[in-house]
Order: sequence, then structure tokens, then C-alpha cells
Amino acid sequence: MPDRWSRPYDAGQLADRRTDIDFSIPLAALQRLAPQLAGGAGNAQGRASFARERGLAVVDLEVDASVPLTCQRCLAPMAWPVASRAHIAIVADVDTADRVAPEFETVLAPDGRITVGDLVEEELLLSLPIVAMHADSGNCRAIAGGETGEETQKPFAGLAALLQRGPRPDEE
Ligand SMILES: [Zn+2]
Repeated sequence: MPDRWSRPYDAGQLADRRTDIDFSIPLAALQRLAPQLAGGAGNAQGRASFARERGLAVVDLEVDASVPLTCQRCLAPMAWPVASRAHIAIVADVDTADRVAPEFETVLAPDGRITVGDLVEEELLLSLPIVAMHADSGNCRAIAGGETGEETQKPFAGLAALLQRGPRPDEE
């Protein structure tokens, strides 16, 4: 049986049946998110609860995840916690989206079909920082390691020495 989170459903039917879908989605399976992940990733867990409100198909989406990102200061992996609660209206077109009450996020589904995986991925992408960094620079690998300036290898030092030993006319 395919995972329910990856299956396209008619949002209107889910809403009319007040369907709840519990999910545990491997982060690496989310194609837009995957390139941002640092190494082996865990799962996004939660529940999508569909209902009909003011004629719209809406979903209460709970997503919890620990997303492994690369710290842009020290390039070490770091975990970015996500605990998101979203109230989403699924709409067919932009005109409808414009008329939706402001407490809703909107997701466009022109044919009315959605996958829970897409909703979760969108929510995760909205929750990620523009630039990932350890909140406390003391946690950064490069800075914590510190004071390695003198020991830093100089890969071109050997090359410079080599060039200086090049042949000179007066050495014949
Ligand atoms: Zn860092």
C-alpha cells in the first residue's frame, strides 16, 4: 500500500469526510527540500486534519521535524527544529485565494488534488531560515576550534619553493 502522504487526493472529498491523515515522511523523499539537507535526514511527523469551512476545503496541518542543515558560518551540520501549526485553505485559483480570510494560508490546487507530502514540504520550506547558522557562535566548529592560524597548512608554500628553484641561466 503506498503511503497516504504521497497519494494525490481530492481535497474537497477529504474535507467533506473530515479526514485525518497521520504521516511520517522521510525528509529525503521531499524533492525540493532534499538538496538543502545535510546528510542523513530523519522524518517529518504530524497530522493533516481536513474540514470544510465557509465552503472551502481547509486543512489544519501539524508538522514536527528536526531538519539537518549546514551551518553557513562553520559548515558543520546543525539541526533546525520545526514545530509548525498551519491553517491552510486549498483553493483552485488566485482569485479565490485573494478572497480567503487572512488567518488562512493558501495553497493553489487548480484541479483540486493535493498530496499531504506537498503540503508538508511547503510548510517545512517556509519554516527554514534563509541562512542557517548555529544560534550561538560558540557552537560553531571553526570558531570553537579557534587559534589554528599558525598551524594552517599553506598548500601553495611548496609550490612557491618549487618555482624559486626553477632553472636560472647563470646556474649552468
Ligand atoms: Zn556553526
